[in-house]
This record gives sequence, structure tokens and C-alpha cells, in this order.
Amino acid sequence: MIKKYFDHPLRNLNSFHVEERADCIIEFDHAEELDQIFAEGQEPENWYVLGGGNNILFTQRYAGTLIHPAGRNITVLSEDAEQLTVEVEAAVEWDDFVAWCVERELWGAENLSLIPGNVGASPVQNIGAYGAEAKDVISRVHYYDVTQRKHCSLTNEECHFAYRDSIFKRELRGRAIITSVEFTLSKSPKPNLGYGDLARETEERGGATLGNIRDAVCAIRRHKLPDTAVLGNAGSFFKNPIVDKDVAEAMMAKYENMPLYPAADPEKRKLAAGWLIDKAGMKGYRTGNVGVHDRQALVLVNHGGATGGEVMALAHQVQERVAEMFGVKIEAEVNVL
Ligand SMILES: Cc1cc2nc3c(=O)[nH]c(=O)nc-3n(C[C@H](O)[C@H](O)[C@H](O)COP(=O)(O)OP(=O)(O)OC[C@H]3O[C@@H](n4cnc5c(N)ncnc54)[C@H](O)[C@@H]3O)c2cc1C
Repeated sequence: MIKKYFDHPLRNLNSFHVEERADCIIEFDHAEELDQIFAEGQEPENWYVLGGGNNILFTQRYAGTLIHPAGRNITVLSEDAEQLTVEVEAAVEWDDFVAWCVERELWGAENLSLIPGNVGASPVQNIGAYGAEAKDVISRVHYYDVTQRKHCSLTNEECHFAYRDSIFKRELRGRAIITSVEFTLSKSPKPNLGYGDLARETEERGGATLGNIRDAVCAIRRHKLPDTAVLGNAGSFFKNPIVDKDVAEAMMAKYENMPLYPAADPEKRKLAAGWLIDKAGMKGYRTGNVGVHDRQALVLVNHGGATGGEVMALAHQVQERVAEMFGVKIEAEVNVL
């Protein structure tokens, strides 16, 4: 069913809980309904897809139409002794899908437990955590191409997944509405415990079962990240910067304990934006209604009543401090509207 809401409040539809409104929100259940919504001559103006609003900062009234998928079906497409392929509609909560996998002893999504948001958004920035990324389990993405008024799909390779990036943030930006995602999960154990404290936390729970890994990831996340229901935020506000190897080596010589990770390009290295912000003295910093979280410097928070503009002013302050101190530019991961 298609539902339309006008002059709709967005406070409960964005995890920063900023008080903005949208001219219009159109909610749809079935992919085919998009043909009707985008019928020639009736296309909504200035449309944008809103999933769970966990990676969007509204800085003003949304003068246009937010398209909000509402389909929540999960359908097993194929299965053999080794793996299972499942199609999941866009509005299924990501963590409900991870729980669905873990309950069925299917491996591959467990490290991505508790990432807030909907399945439809998972390919957009190729969500990732604890050494895993959505691309490791995505086999196909189904979407509606608004420009061509056509239902299309892409294989994993065609999505051009990279660190917090995909074709949906590039060539298909402003064109694609993801309606469902196919995932292929393994039936054989594939524990991926190389990241941070995960191996220790999993061992403390009795070893590398799917349930223990999920519990360990959830516990670490709950300890480190603020609950959006209590303190508005959008998780990591900034991406980890990728710099030339030489730049990284020069920084390492100066800051011995600086965390450094490999990047996809062997001539580059990934720095930890949280560490840079902390070292620049901004962790726990507060100005007015906004601040940098005191346990995770990558997270900007709304202490209550903040506007999107206040969050952006703080983001610019953080970027400037990091640039001044390290000569490194940190970019926003959050979508600013
Ligand atoms: C506390 C917290 C922790 C987080 N931790 C992580 C983490 O560990 N790793 C990580 O990668 N992210 C993390 N995030 C960010 C967020 O969870 C992800 O970006 C998630 O995918 C957002 O899902 P959403 O449904 O809320 O998307 P939204 O915020 O609604 O949208 C995000 C972007 O995707 C687009 N989009 C959404 N749905 C669709 C669709 N169906 N079709 C086309 N485009 C669409 C939107 O237009 C927008 O550009 C965190 C966020 C919070 C609040």
C-alpha cells in the first residue's frame, strides 16, 4: 500500500533527533508500487530515500519528498549443504536480519550485529564493523531506477563496493531506490575474530559459536557507543581518512602509538579518525547542545534540543582542529541534508 504524509515531523525518523519537518513522506510496501509513485508526469520533486534515518543529519526542513520503503519480507531463495541465499526487503531492521541468520546457524553477518538501520541502506555505504562488511555477504541488490523507470538488479561485483562506499553513493546516487537485497550465508563456521577485543570477549563467553560472537559484538558496541534513544547521534560522524603511505609513515615517526591500518590501495594507509580527534583534544568536548562523545571521539552527539546546523558547526570545528594538528582532512560519513 502507498501512504502519503504531508508536513511530517522528522524528530523520530532521524537518530540525531533533530526537530525538522518534511514537506512530504511517501511510504510503499511493494517494489511495483514505485511504478505508480514515479509514473510519468507525477514524479515527486526533490525526492530522497529515508530508511531508518541513522546516517542522515537534517539541517533544515526537507523541501521535497522522502521515499520510505516499508516492505519487510524475508524469503529463502536457494539452499544447499554449504550455503543459503535469502532475499530481504528494504525495511527489515538490519539487526533483526543478523539475529535471523544467527538463529539459523548461518555465518557471515554476525560481526555486523547491532548496526542500526534497515537492510535497504546496508549496500549504500557497505556497512562495516569488527573486520566485516556487508559486501562479504551481499550477492545481489534489487533497486528501482527512477531515471529509467525500471526495476533493475546488480551483482556484488557490479555494486563496486569499497570502504563505506558503493555505486549507490556514486553513479546511482539520486537514481536508485533499493527494494531488496540478496545475501548468501555460509553453513560452515567462519569465525572472524581478528579485530580489537572480539577474540577475547568471545572466548570469555565460551568460544567461537555464532551466538557467542553476536553477544560479544553487542556487548562491545553497547559499552562504546551511545544509545540513540538516550543521546541523539549517527554513529561515526567521520570516515577514517585514507592517506599516502609516506604521510602515514611520517606521522608514525612522530606518534609511535598511532593506530594504522592497511587500505585497499597498497600505496595508501587508513588512519583512525577517532584517535586523531582524541589526540587533537576534542574527545568529550561540548559546546551548547552538541558535543563529541566522551567514550568514542568519532561520534558527535545531540545533548538535547540541538539543530542540525549546530551539529554541523561542531563537525567543522573538529575537522579544522584535526587539519591544524595533523594536516589530515577528515570527511563526514553522515549524509547531510
Ligand atoms: C549508534 C550508531 C552506530 C553505527 N554504527 C555503524 C557501524 O558500525 N558501521 C556502519 O557502517 N555504520 C554504522 N552506523 C551508521 C548506520 O547504522 C548505517 O549507515 C545504516 O546503514 C543506516 O541505515 P538507515 O536505514 O538508518 O539509513 P538512512 O540513515 O535512512 O540512510 C542512509 C543513506 O542511505 C540511503 N538509503 C537508505 N535506504 C535506502 C534504500 N532503500 N535505497 C537507496 N538508498 C537508501 C539514504 O538515502 C541515505 O543516503 C551507525 C549509526 C548509529 C546511529
